[in-house]
Amino acid sequence: MDDHAPICVTCGTQFPPTAEPPSGCPICEDERQYVGHGGQRWTSLAELREGRRNLVREIAPNLSTVSTEPSFAIGQQAHLICTSAGNLLWDCVSLLDHETVAAVERLGGVAAIAISHPHFYTAMVEWARAFDAPVFLHGDDRRWVMHRDPGVRHWGGQTLDPLPGSGLTLIRCGGHFPGSCVLHWPAGAGGRGVLLTGDTISVVADRRWVSFMWSYPNQVPLDPAAVERIVTAIEPYPFDVLYAGWAGDVVDGDAQGAVRRSAARYVAHLRGEAPAAG
Ligand SMILES: [Zn+2]
Ligand SMILES: [Zn+2]
Repeated sequence: MDDHAPICVTCGTQFPPTAEPPSGCPICEDERQYVGHGGQRWTSLAELREGRRNLVREIAPNLSTVSTEPSFAIGQQAHLICTSAGNLLWDCVSLLDHETVAAVERLGGVAAIAISHPHFYTAMVEWARAFDAPVFLHGDDRRWVMHRDPGVRHWGGQTLDPLPGSGLTLIRCGGHFPGSCVLHWPAGAGGRGVLLTGDTISVVADRRWVSFMWSYPNQVPLDPAAVERIVTAIEPYPFDVLYAGWAGDVVDGDAQGAVRRSAARYVAHLRGEAPAAG
């Protein structure tokens, strides 16, 4: 592992090992993120391991999360989906250590990695090397890959089967990033169907609803056409449960209806067509 390669403290992205860290982090300098209030700061895997550990927890049959405690960067977590065709790691975190590798190996390891968008690229190269697994990223976000590696595979078009025989489908939705994707898992939730969305679709405080943003930290919305493209992209894929990127962000029941209703509400507000509120 590249124990001393620079990792951005604010977004968690690992850069290639260099004598001096980069002058800035392009992902944080982008309007969809932010540079930390104290200015650009860097850490490393070696430092992260000193004060943090990962928790690997089964949250539903054949579905586990990997999260870092204390929380790091934007609090990313990964989901591990276990299938008879191998396991897929959906999204990623910055910390990887021997305990995490052992815990994930006990669940069957990782056959492939797929990541929703650049805010979850984190230490994907470390994870790819540790499990000898390819990382599938949508090619429309190629410019945001800070750590290039032969294990990273860019895909194009609207859908990809990342793990043949698993039933899983990556669906490009765009919106938050041009290549923002979601993952459909038809066998999930006891066959009710699951959609894992990162923050292509986010779960809001009232968990019967979801939302869509171009920039979450800076609260910049998407335009109506982009929201409608997201809904159209996932329409052919039935799901009852939706997991967004962060712990507890779950719509547990009629999630496809929740996405449709939420998109209609959002677009109505953007267009000034929502019923007058008070
Ligand atoms: Zn950053
Ligand atoms: Zn994001």
